[in-house]
Amino acid sequence: MADCIFCKIAAGEIPSTTLYEDADVRVIFDIAPASLGHAVILPKTHAANVFELPDETLQKAALVAKKVGAAMVEAFHSDGLNVLQNNGEAAGQTVFHYHVHLIPRYHDDGVGITWKQGSADGALLKEKADLIARLVK
Ligand code: 5GP
Ligand code: ZN
Repeated sequence: MADCIFCKIAAGEIPSTTLYEDADVRVIFDIAPASLGHAVILPKTHAANVFELPDETLQKAALVAKKVGAAMVEAFHSDGLNVLQNNGEAAGQTVFHYHVHLIPRYHDDGVGITWKQGSADGALLKEKADLIARLVK
């Protein structure tokens, strides 16, 4: 897509430090990292979010997250790794080209991927579970 920064980076039109590249994806370091080593997996074809992404690319991104994520943990000697992905502004998405975050985690690193525990409405959730089961079929 013409005006998409991640399309340009994925295509190599804008230079970036590349950790991994193949025919389908490029993995680069995030420009504003949450932690040391924070990287993003960029498919080379444009899709705004997970719902627009072809299944094969989604599968590929998951495999790359596992393979490159493991190498990152080793290279940065991190204690853990968050693999996460935002869809929609309300979910924190700011660049509307599908990408997967690989965020190395270190004990007491202060990275704020957390939430306050709420309470569940059992009856509502049962209704929604039935609806979702019908929608997914
Ligand atoms: P989102 O909030 O959409 O899930 O994540 C977008 C991420 O892309 C952010 O972590 C942001 O720092 C990163 N980012 C935005 N523009 C650029 C860029 O030009 N280069 C790189 N390497 N990362 C970028
Ligand atoms: Zn794009």
